[in-house]
Amino acid sequence: MINRERVARASALDWIGAELEAIEALDLRRVVVNIDSPPGPEVVVEGRRFLLLGSNNYLDLARHPEVVAGAGQAAAEFGAGAGASRLLSGATPVHVQLERELAALVGAETALIFSSGYLANVSTIQALVGDRDAIFSDELNHASIIDGCRLSGAEVHVYAHANVEVLEAALISTRARRKLMVSDSVFSMEGDSAPLVELVDLARRHGAMLMIDESHAIGVLGSQGGGLTAALGLAGRIDVVMGTVSKALGSAGGFIAGSEALIDYLRHRARGFVFDTAPAPPAVGAALAALAVMRREPERRLHLLARTDRLRSALAADGIALLAGEAAIVPLVIGEPQAAVEVAAKVRARGVIAPAIRPPSVPAGTSRLRLTVSAGFTELQVDHAVNVMIEALT
Ligand SMILES: *Cc1c(COP(=O)(O)O)cnc(C)c1O
Repeated sequence: MINRERVARASALDWIGAELEAIEALDLRRVVVNIDSPPGPEVVVEGRRFLLLGSNNYLDLARHPEVVAGAGQAAAEFGAGAGASRLLSGATPVHVQLERELAALVGAETALIFSSGYLANVSTIQALVGDRDAIFSDELNHASIIDGCRLSGAEVHVYAHANVEVLEAALISTRARRKLMVSDSVFSMEGDSAPLVELVDLARRHGAMLMIDESHAIGVLGSQGGGLTAALGLAGRIDVVMGTVSKALGSAGGFIAGSEALIDYLRHRARGFVFDTAPAPPAVGAALAALAVMRREPERRLHLLARTDRLRSALAADGIALLAGEAAIVPLVIGEPQAAVEVAAKVRARGVIAPAIRPPSVPAGTSRLRLTVSAGFTELQVDHAVNVMIEALT
């Protein structure tokens, strides 16, 4: 009886094999590399060392001794897991302190942390708008924003990348009850920045809420690492600031910062807060320690930008076309998925991991290597990576 059920179940999933073959045929098969080390500049894979140009651990804080100790200390004091949603089992002092420090970092009244940035985006967008409302979303926004838009049930206007004229026309065209404009600040696969000054102005003139995702700008831009809004002197002018502590801060989790009223409302209506177990204390303790290191060592941010600039200029000097950007993402667009995979395999054989990014992560025809370095890279490591890339491409 049990056996027959097993057989039936196995055959009900048969379609997956065909689906995987179709993915393979399009050169879109993805493989997870097993690494035996932290995500530093060098990682160990099957006993061999590789330079990793694919991590968002921008400030190299994920393996920093103080950050690791911060995780350990929070675990010792408050446990390995939070046990429940904060609405059920409360907030520990580290949760409260992290929210206070993140709000201060981005110049907002207060903040709310979530288990991930993905969850923060999905839950917040869904909480802010519904089926009588409209969202205006950049076509290159992160998948978590796209998913939040879909889940909200609102009418979604996807506008051409960073195009404020198209955006304004859409804002004028709608009769929706509430309007929500949403954009990455630094785009995750392009590395360029949103026209933030214009977005703030448009939001004000059209009575729209403005939500900005600072995932790739926190710790990277702004003199204190407060993001693009801080760098442009717009702190406090954005209704909803979203950020993640999974990237430059080297831990795990996401947050929303804004007014007391916004955050209080999200505690009632953001399903990823209400129905999700609170972030684990070790992740929260690590994030607090990372913020402390970041405040004390602003040179980390400068190292990151200098190493990124070295990578960018050396590739460009060799005639390799890159997308422009001020942040820490260096995209080298190749085109078809197969070609991108081939270059990635070539550099991998020479000891450099530079992941090929293919659809649906980027639009069709723009498969690319997305290169990132961190504050932990030496100039020699950057130069070595550049040489390997140039050999593979020429
Ligand atoms: C990574 C990322 C997220 C999701 O953050 P996680 O903490 O990794 O879940 C959201 N938005 C953007 C732009 C990102 O790059």
